Amino acid sequence: MRAAVVTAFDRPLDVQERPVPEPGPGEVLVRIEACGLCRTDANSVRGDGPVRPAPPFVPGHEGVGVVRCAGPGVPDGMVGRRVGLAWLGSACGRCRHCVTGRENLCDSRRDTGGTVDGTLAEYALADARFVVPVPDDIPSAEAAPLCCAGVSALAAVKAARVCSGDRVAVFGIGSLGQLAVQYARLNGALVFAVDVTWEKLDLALDLGADRVVHAAEGDPVAALTRFGGVDVAIVMTPAPGAAEQALASLRSGGRLVLAALPAWDRLDLSIADTVLRGITVVGSIVGTRQDLAEAFELHAAGRTRITVETHPLAAAADLLEKAFPGADERRLVIDVGMPDEE
Ligand code: ZN
Ligand code: ZN
Repeated sequence: MRAAVVTAFDRPLDVQERPVPEPGPGEVLVRIEACGLCRTDANSVRGDGPVRPAPPFVPGHEGVGVVRCAGPGVPDGMVGRRVGLAWLGSACGRCRHCVTGRENLCDSRRDTGGTVDGTLAEYALADARFVVPVPDDIPSAEAAPLCCAGVSALAAVKAARVCSGDRVAVFGIGSLGQLAVQYARLNGALVFAVDVTWEKLDLALDLGADRVVHAAEGDPVAALTRFGGVDVAIVMTPAPGAAEQALASLRSGGRLVLAALPAWDRLDLSIADTVLRGITVVGSIVGTRQDLAEAFELHAAGRTRITVETHPLAAAADLLEKAFPGADERRLVIDVGMPDEE
């Protein structure tokens, strides 16, 4: 099979021939059809993110494909099903996080494309319990980004406890932000989209944002304060200063949700302001299998839209070299079956 392999952090991603792996107990072998590219992949390929797997490894954690065969102990009926493989490759199922619906926080979890080989390949192994069936109505190229961008955005909106009538600001209208705008709107929120390009702000309006704020043409805090401030600010961009701006845009009782990982890993926070104004700060990391199943179900029901741009597997190295995959209007997706360009 062909697989995109990180052989060393100072070498480009290498598409090479590898033997098709054999599923062990509890595992399925999935013939990958599509794999979205996430910023975490770009970081892990360069070895400069908070996630630093040991080479050689196959990145990719937005995989969708069909189960080809199953190892011992896998329940009947899995073979032939189309499934999604997300960042959460497996979890212990027994710890306090796992049994309280927070398996994404399990200390024993395995990360697809991190601690286990990922989905930027023609085949991938997966824990049969952690793959999520994809509804027939969703093309694989659209289902793929839902496996990370979708599940992360949905979980971030849930972490914000968005209620009808809340004012929600989404900072950063890349793939995650676009979906966060849509999920917040589904919860009945008034949605403010914040970004630095009119293309993405126009897209946010098209996806249902109520107002947009251009963060490079004026002070976004002043603009959001003029609107009366927001109850929830969700930070989906690693842009410097975005988290501070989001925090400063909150009205009393507000919730700040941090879901991006900026290079500068600190937030300057006034303790007095946090106490006196009842501010909540929450971190949100990907989501659970249930979150992914819901992201699929909402998309199949036509409640969300996502724009993808497909490329062959051979293009993955160049695409991950781009400064910020995931920040564009379109999610970059590898169509594993697409012939390489001449
Ligand atoms: Zn991701
Ligand atoms: Zn656990």
